[in-house]
Amino acid sequence: MRRRRFLKLAGALVPAALLPYPVVALDAKRKLRQRVRPSDAAWPSATEWEKLNQAVGGNLLKPQGLFAACAADQNSSACGDVKKNIRNPFYISDQPAGTEVSGWLDAWSPAPSAYAIAARNTGDVAAGVNFARVHNLRLVVKGTGHSYLGTSNGPDSLLIWTHHMNKVTLHDAFVPHGCEKKLAPQPAVSAESGAMWIDLYDAVTTKGSRYVQGGGCTSVGVAGLVQSGGFGSLSKAFGTAAAGLLEAEVVTADGQVRVASACSNPDLFWALKGGGGGSWGVVTRVTLRTHDLPEFFGFAGGTISAKSDAAFRQLIAKAMEFYRDKLFNEHWGEQMRFTPENTLEISMVCQGFTRDEVRQIWQPFFDWVKSSKDLTANGLIAVAGHARKWWEIEGNPAMNRDERPGAPANHGWWQGDQDQVGAFLHGYDSLWLPESLLRGAQFDRLVEALFAASRHKKVQLHFNKGIGGAAPEAIAATQDTATNPKVTEAFTLVIIADGEGSAYPGEARPAMNLAAAHKDARNIDLATAELRKIAPNSGSYVSESNFFNKSWQREYWGTNYPRLRAIKERYDPDGLFFVHHGVGSEDWSEDGFTRIA
Ligand SMILES: Cc1cc2nc3c(=O)[nH]c(=O)nc-3n(C[C@H](O)[C@H](O)[C@H](O)COP(=O)(O)OP(=O)(O)OC[C@H]3O[C@@H](n4cnc5c(N)ncnc54)[C@H](O)[C@@H]3O)c2cc1C
Repeated sequence: MRRRRFLKLAGALVPAALLPYPVVALDAKRKLRQRVRPSDAAWPSATEWEKLNQAVGGNLLKPQGLFAACAADQNSSACGDVKKNIRNPFYISDQPAGTEVSGWLDAWSPAPSAYAIAARNTGDVAAGVNFARVHNLRLVVKGTGHSYLGTSNGPDSLLIWTHHMNKVTLHDAFVPHGCEKKLAPQPAVSAESGAMWIDLYDAVTTKGSRYVQGGGCTSVGVAGLVQSGGFGSLSKAFGTAAAGLLEAEVVTADGQVRVASACSNPDLFWALKGGGGGSWGVVTRVTLRTHDLPEFFGFAGGTISAKSDAAFRQLIAKAMEFYRDKLFNEHWGEQMRFTPENTLEISMVCQGFTRDEVRQIWQPFFDWVKSSKDLTANGLIAVAGHARKWWEIEGNPAMNRDERPGAPANHGWWQGDQDQVGAFLHGYDSLWLPESLLRGAQFDRLVEALFAASRHKKVQLHFNKGIGGAAPEAIAATQDTATNPKVTEAFTLVIIADGEGSAYPGEARPAMNLAAAHKDARNIDLATAELRKIAPNSGSYVSESNFFNKSWQREYWGTNYPRLRAIKERYDPDGLFFVHHGVGSEDWSEDGFTRIA
C-alpha cells in the first residue's frame, strides 16, 4: 500500500493488536470484477466459516426467511409466533432476516443472507469486514432493517447485523476525538449502532430531561438514520439527525477501526452525515449532541372534507396560507395530507408552546373551516403537554407497546406508523419543494399543483423534512452535512407512496392483484410528475425515495456528489460497501456482484 496514503487515512486508529482478527492491508490497485456466491468454487469452506464463527464468539448464524417456519409447517408453534408478531416492528428487528417492509413491486424482495454475524462488539464487526474482503464476498450491513429500498437485505451475502450492540451512554461534557483544544465540551449521548431511537429518547428525554434529534419512527436505528441525514418531528428546531453528529466509530473496508469527527478523519465524518447508509464502513458507535428540552410539545390534528373540487382547491389554498403565515417556523413539523377524496388530513407536532398558545394559533383556521358550508370537519384538536412525557409508553394512548414477554418496558411505536410495518410497496417517491413556492405568484402554482397531484394519489407534505424556515443553528448545522443542500431551501418534503398489507415471501395470503398494484405505482408517478413541474431538480430524500430514480446522485446529494465520490474512492476503492443507489454503486451491477466500471 502507498505509504503516504495510508498515513493520511490513519487519523485515529484503534491498534490492530486489540482486534481478535488479523488486519489485512488494502490493495487499492486490485479491482475485483466478480463477488463470490455460495455456488462458486471460491466460496469459503466450512472450516473457514467455522474459524470466523470462533473469531466472533460463536455468533455466526445461518439466517432463515421470516416465514421459513411456516413453509415447513403452517401449524408449528414457530409459524404461529411469526404470524402473531409480524405487525410488531420490534419483533421484526429482532430477526436476523427481518425487513420492516416486505418488499417493493418489481424492485426487491426480502431474502436472507447466506451467513450473518450477530455482532456483539467492534472486534466482531472488524472480523466480518476482513472476512468479506479477503474472500471477496458481497457484504451487507443491517441495524433494524428499516430500509424501504432494501439496502440492508442481500441474498448470497455475508450480513453484519449490529442489532445486539445497543448500549446508550449520556455525557455531561463531551469533546469529539481530536477536538480537545478546538471545541468546548458539550452535553451529548453515545449509542452503539444497533440502538433504536426509542432507546435514546428514553435515556435522553424520559429519564434525562434533555433532547436529541433522531427520527419520528421510534424503532428506526441510529446508524441508518444519521447516515440518511434523516428527520424527526422537530427537525425544524434542531436540524437533521446527521446535523447533530459529533463523532462516530467506524470499521472501514481495510478492517481498521477509525474514529471520525470534525477534527479526526473529517472527510469520512462529513460523508457519514447524510452520505447514505452502508457505503462507508460499518458504524459501530455514534455520539450526538443533546439540547435543552423544551418544556412543552404539542399536537394539532383532524380531518377536513370538501364537498366539491372547487371547495377542496379553496381548502388547499387556505391550509397552505395558514401554514406559511403561522406554522412555517422552528416550532412546527410533521404533516398535512391532501387526498383524492378531497380530504385534508392534519397531523402536526410542535415544540415550545403551551396548550393555550397552541389553541390560539389554530383557532382562526378551525373557525374558518367550521364556518364553511362546503367543508366537514372531524376530530379537530390542538393540544400540548410536558415534553418529558412525549416518549413515555405507559398510559400513552397514541402508542402501541411491545407486549412480548421480556420486551423492554420502553419499547413502543406510534399508532400512526402501524400501517408501514411489514407493508409491501407498490411505489414510493419524494421531492423537496423550495420555500420560494410559498411566496408571490408562485403560491397559486403551488396550490394548483397540489390539487392536480392529489387527483392521482394522496399527497403528503412532511414539513419537518425540509429545513427551510428552521432555526438558524439548525440550518447551519444541516448545511455542514452531505445531504443535498436543497434540503435547507425547502419548506417541505412531499412523499407520495402506497402499497398493501404485508406480503413476505412464504406468507400465506391471497394472490396479489398485480394489475392493480401496477396501476397504483403509475398513479404515484403521475402525482409526483405534477409536482416536479413546479419543482424540477429540487432533490429527494435518500431513504424515502424512488427505487427507480435514474438521477439519484443529483437528487440525493446535489452538488455534494463529486466530493462524496472522492471520499468513497479514498476509503473504499474496491467497493466492498455497496448498496442500491449508494455513492459509488454506479460502478456495480444492480445486485452488487459484478464490477462494471
Ligand atoms: C416504518 C419506517 C418509518 C420511518 N420513519 C422515518 C422517520 O421518521 N424519519 C426519517 O428520516 N426516516 C424514516 N424512515 C427511513 C429510515 O430512517 C431509513 O430507512 C434508515 O436508513 C433506516 O435505518 P436503520 O438502521 O433503521 O435500517 P437498516 O435497514 O438496518 O439500515 C438502513 C441502511 O443503513 C445501513 N446501515 C445500518 N446500520 C449501519 C451501520 N451500523 N453501519 C453502516 N451502515 C449501516 C444499511 O446498510 C442500510 O443501507 C422510516 C422507515 C421505515 C421503514
